[in-house]
Amino acid sequence: MSIGTELEEKKVKNINDEVHVELIGLSKKYGEYYAVKNLNLKIKKGSFTCLLGPSGCGKTTTLRMISGFVNPTEGDIIISGVSQRGIPPHKRNTSMVFQEYALFPHMTVRDNISYGLKLKKLPEAELKKRVDYMLEFMDLTSVADRFPKFLSGGQQQRVALARSLVMEPEVLLMDEPLSNLDAKLRVKVRSELREIQKKLGLTTIYVTHDQEEALSISDYIAILDEGVLQQFDSPWELYFSPKNKFVADFVGLNNFIPVKVEKVEKDYMIVKVVDKTIEVENRYSASDIKENMILSIRPESIRIYPVEEANDLIKGKIKIHNFLGSVVRYWVDIGSQDIIVDDHDPYQKPILSGEVGLRFESFGINLFGQ
Ligand code: ATP
Repeated sequence: MSIGTELEEKKVKNINDEVHVELIGLSKKYGEYYAVKNLNLKIKKGSFTCLLGPSGCGKTTTLRMISGFVNPTEGDIIISGVSQRGIPPHKRNTSMVFQEYALFPHMTVRDNISYGLKLKKLPEAELKKRVDYMLEFMDLTSVADRFPKFLSGGQQQRVALARSLVMEPEVLLMDEPLSNLDAKLRVKVRSELREIQKKLGLTTIYVTHDQEEALSISDYIAILDEGVLQQFDSPWELYFSPKNKFVADFVGLNNFIPVKVEKVEKDYMIVKVVDKTIEVENRYSASDIKENMILSIRPESIRIYPVEEANDLIKGKIKIHNFLGSVVRYWVDIGSQDIIVDDHDPYQKPILSGEVGLRFESFGINLFGQ
């Protein structure tokens, strides 16, 4: 069991195993171009799932297909065991929170939150009870009679969320809902959002292109590239055991180094990095192992030593260092390329310069085909 899986088992044990939303062979074509191609996902009840990927990878299109605003070209969406084919957006039990919040400027907070329930013609007393509860729940009671333009960004975001939650959707869909907030507020609001989602046990699908946001907030992340699913896993698995080079490159910072595989045993492999051999855990199927591979290792998984202490290590020369507070980041030239190394203990050690030795921690290494 990898480190990721062990930690993950602790983290996601509260989530039900029941599949709530299933995407089956879902595709969307614009002309000959696939915005989303053959997407298969099983989203568990009560989980927080992020759709993550670079601009144009198909995140919003996927979310819009789930909400019913975009018709799939192929495939199906199953919610609570029911195919959504032919069901219009307002009849689906989903609710969408948009990036722009789309609050009605001429309505108070209370009226914004009440709007959907009024359309549903809920009896007045029931409507008031639900809206009062939601105002209280979202800590908005004191601003209930204000208009949106007199609210902070974080408060506006909470009103948008309250307006969706008051409809008691089965599935909450969110499209980059925090991108209008400044960096500090974003971090605060996203943890509030996560608390609310957990409290309600609400299945949530959330679109973002911000990998840090996705790692911090999700139970599961689906990474898309050019409309194709690259990996669907917990944040831990994505970070520690990326399935391909795209995922390793997109999530966090990574070094990629061409290596030669010299020996393959059941549990370990020996690979040659520049002129040194190192041992790597063998977690690969025989068909994936090639003579020439790409080794990925994160800057924090490399230890750096002064050259006098670096007998058997990979040798290099420091080109640049940046003091970043909690880490010193080095760019080390190992002959064939530069490697980024993060030293997390700057207080205990002098900042190094000149010739150094690098040790790659084996748990941080992943190998990919070229
Ligand atoms: P972003 O992070 O920039 O919002 P995204 O991952 O959400 O990107 P989508 O909006 O889903 O990406 O778009 C996926 C691809 O489909 C893009 O190349 C986009 O240009 C294309 N696309 C989306 N909607 C349409 C449309 N109505 N007509 C034609 N092409 C479209």
